[in-house]
Amino acid sequence: MIAVCFGIAGGIVGKLKGSSFLLWFLISGLVPFFGLMAAIAYRFERDELRRECPRCGRVVKIYEALCTGCGHELDFPETAIAPESWAKRPVS
Ligand SMILES: [Zn+2]
Repeated sequence: MIAVCFGIAGGIVGKLKGSSFLLWFLISGLVPFFGLMAAIAYRFERDELRRECPRCGRVVKIYEALCTGCGHELDFPETAIAPESWAKRPVS
C-alpha cells in the first residue's frame, strides 16, 4: 500500500519533468522513499541554470566553481543558459 502511494507520487513527479510515469512509478514503488527523492532531485538537476566556460566552451551547471572540462576557475556568470528542462519543451 505504501509502496503504491510512493510509486504514484514518484510517477507524477517523473511525468511532470517530462519523463516516463511508469519508469518512476516502478523506481519509487520498489525503493519507496529513495525512489521518490531521486525523482525530485533528478528534476531539480535538470532545472538548474547552466553557463558556458569562457575557456573551452563546455556547458556546466551554474553552481560549478570549476569547469568540469578544463578546470578553469569560473566567476559568477553574466549570462546563463536556460535549463535543460526548458530546452526540451516544444516551441509553440
Ligand atoms: Zn572549460
